[in-house]
Amino acid sequence: MRVGGVAEDDKLDKEQTRAVLRRAIGMAKPFRRTIAGALGFVLLSTLGLLLGPVIVRYGIDSGIDVGDRSVLRNAVIAYVAVVAFAYLAARQQYIFVNRAGEGFLRALRIRTFDHIQKQSLGFFDRYQSGVLISRMTADIESMAELVQWGLLQFVAAVFLIVIALMLMLALSWQLTIAALLVMPVIIIASRKFQRDSNDAYLEVRERVGQNLSELQEGIAGVRVIQAYAQEGEQTRQFVASNRSLYRSHVHSIRVSTWYFGLVEAMGVFATALAIGIGGWLVGRGDVTIGTVVAFVLLLSQLFEPVQQLSQLYNTVQSSAAALDKLFTILDTQPDVEGGEQEFPERGELVVDAIGFTYPSTDQPVLRDVSIAVGDGERLALVGPTGAGKSTVAKLMARLYDPTIGTISFGGVDLRDATLDSLRDRVVVVPQEGFLFGGSIADNVRIARAEATDDELREALDAIGALDRFEEFEDGIHTEVRERGSRLSAGERQLVSLARAALVDPAVLVLDEATSSLDPGTELIVEGALEKLMQGRTTIVVAHRLSTIRTADRIAVIDAGELAELGTHDELVSLGGRYAALASAWESSLPT
Ligand code: ADP
Repeated sequence: MRVGGVAEDDKLDKEQTRAVLRRAIGMAKPFRRTIAGALGFVLLSTLGLLLGPVIVRYGIDSGIDVGDRSVLRNAVIAYVAVVAFAYLAARQQYIFVNRAGEGFLRALRIRTFDHIQKQSLGFFDRYQSGVLISRMTADIESMAELVQWGLLQFVAAVFLIVIALMLMLALSWQLTIAALLVMPVIIIASRKFQRDSNDAYLEVRERVGQNLSELQEGIAGVRVIQAYAQEGEQTRQFVASNRSLYRSHVHSIRVSTWYFGLVEAMGVFATALAIGIGGWLVGRGDVTIGTVVAFVLLLSQLFEPVQQLSQLYNTVQSSAAALDKLFTILDTQPDVEGGEQEFPERGELVVDAIGFTYPSTDQPVLRDVSIAVGDGERLALVGPTGAGKSTVAKLMARLYDPTIGTISFGGVDLRDATLDSLRDRVVVVPQEGFLFGGSIADNVRIARAEATDDELREALDAIGALDRFEEFEDGIHTEVRERGSRLSAGERQLVSLARAALVDPAVLVLDEATSSLDPGTELIVEGALEKLMQGRTTIVVAHRLSTIRTADRIAVIDAGELAELGTHDELVSLGGRYAALASAWESSLPT
């Protein structure tokens, strides 16, 4: 929900924030040694940093003031040594922090990716790929800040403030009180800054998100945009969205500069007070010059951590919101989980009185559908668009589970079979097979990672596609390039069919492509399909009369119900829906 331009779901209350952080800390356990190492070095570098002023004081009071050169020399050497030590400790601290942080993020990325890979289709109905990608990139990035710097900065800032204050008190309580006069102003300003900057930050995030989605649509939809000559309009929208992004950035900068400026001014003011009052105290003989100088140096270190702590509050807030979204994904259990049983080699595929509603909607799309598909039978699913044909096919391959009723193969409920057994027996060939980067061989091997080149060739040969690919310069090792831009639509389908042939399933579920190919390729693809279907139970969502003609039986699905079921001849003589469809086809298509 969006309220007042600010993403509500980016805001967590205190309780939620704490719970999320606790869980994140639990996940960081494997890195506790590295984190402890980092903290050790933080402590060392802080001590080094604060020791400097103390040495300067010694150098001034016992060296310069009394004209003792050896003391001065020792002080200079000690100062250089301490600075070098602080530098080395800070370096180690960087290395340790990054090691722990990057390790944590890597583990989190892998865990999220693995989790997403295991999800069923229902999950992808709920989460669009853009959202998932932004979880894996932007949200994990925004968390990186917390994991890598947040925790450490917090510890370092607290160390520094506490130790610096203690040192200051030990040097001179009068000066400490004088310097702390500015504290109330800083505390009030910090609170206001936290509130304002958090709002500003959420606003920026929201605008960035909007901007990104406009950019993405503008690029993905550029063909449509150009086809309707809407480039100008698109750019106008993009300009507007950029304007608000710009404004929200400027606003957030204004919030920060106001605060940082104030803290810095307070720092100067406190220093002036310390020098003024310090001078007076020196005159009275209460403190030495070295003390005043050391005090001023300590003061200059004090204000930066105060600023850091205020900023940290935002980092924690936004990282917690990002983590919370990520955890929501990690907590999603896959809807389709495997059972214990193994399927027999072959058997009847029985759909028994199923009903189905997509998880993302509450409108039932299938009602009381029952079909028994015999071993080796070829069943065509036909019917108007949106009737539920693809849904029936998806349920038969258990991409979803029916809401009511059961589907079984060889007497075993699909839900009771192991996922491996299921993927071995039933293979879905989608309308358009996705091609990954890599060679043709790599792409066929997606179906069975351990297949040898010979097995790949056999699979390609089984569908009569081997010669076609062997003709390429690198044969089956030809790179397909991203999204197969170098393969024609027909060749892409051949790869897709070869994947199925490699698995050699008992049941084949096909979603026939609606678009037609050029006649030459069409013949090869049809031949490949025919070979692939040989001897297997096949369920095909059919769009072409030629496919329907070769089916043993035809199921007509209409508005989520099984309207007719029988052979071509039976249904034609029935004189119902199929008969009407068939005669319309006969007259319109020269098949
Ligand atoms: P057909 O294959 O017969 O064209 P589908 O099985 O694809 O029909 O779709 C049947 C109905 O289910 C349609 O109303 C469609 O809008 C709906 N539908 C399809 N896929 C989804 C989905 N992933 N989430 C929600 N509804 C869907």
